[in-house]
Amino acid sequence: MSFTNQIQAVAYCRTPYKQKFGIPRQPGLVTAARGFVELAAPFNHIDAVRGLEQYSHLWLLFCFHENLAQGWKTTVRPPRLGGNEKLGVFATRSTFRPNGIGQSVVKLHAVHTHNGKVSLEISGMDLLDGTPIVDIKPYIPFSDAVVDAAGGIAQDAPILAKVTFNKQAQQQLQQYQSKPQYPALAELIEGVLAQDPRPAYKKAKADPKVYQVALYDLDILWLALPEGIEVIELRPSQ
Ligand code: SAM
Repeated sequence: MSFTNQIQAVAYCRTPYKQKFGIPRQPGLVTAARGFVELAAPFNHIDAVRGLEQYSHLWLLFCFHENLAQGWKTTVRPPRLGGNEKLGVFATRSTFRPNGIGQSVVKLHAVHTHNGKVSLEISGMDLLDGTPIVDIKPYIPFSDAVVDAAGGIAQDAPILAKVTFNKQAQQQLQQYQSKPQYPALAELIEGVLAQDPRPAYKKAKADPKVYQVALYDLDILWLALPEGIEVIELRPSQ
């Protein structure tokens, strides 16, 4: 059965994440990721967010718009299980879902209004830049936080890799992080790479490949060494 109401974007998310590779797999894992939820017409009215500033966190309901064309699958292979074992789509947080809807709790820093535009300053998101937001709701701790809940295959946060910068990358980092368009750049790179974004089957093996993640308008090049992740270059995205 389909609905009569059309679902439409109420906002778009602006984030440092310019490509899917490297985005944390859940919110709150990389708190240095700062961004904005920019309300879209006709919802970009200050009255629509009146009272929201009383909350520290928000639920964002959004569309996995980059994966919609690929449709959905009954079973998926969660990265947590090394990409080998299959689970039902509704038993996972896979992006290949029948309605392509995602949900994330993010920290709310401020509600901004400027020239008739409304935007919410947030952090900790796991969303691609430009993601359409289909609803925004306050996070309500007494009801939403279930402290003794069973977390299935995702009971604990992922184990973090050690991240270092080689000499060249350190110098480049110094240069970029002094610019206001790259807030908390060092923490952002460390937080993203500590998740080791490589596919699970690669993680246990020697890996000579140079990997790249895109943050803001920078490409971050890195190696996966036996002792951890080494950032080797920061350069403007092509
Ligand atoms: N927290 C959400 C949830 O549980 O519904 C999303 C979890 S999903 C596993 C997170 C991944 O979605 C990110 O690592 C990124 O690769 C992917 N992603 C984020 N925004 C996306 C978008 N707009 N379109 C497609 N994939 C997206």
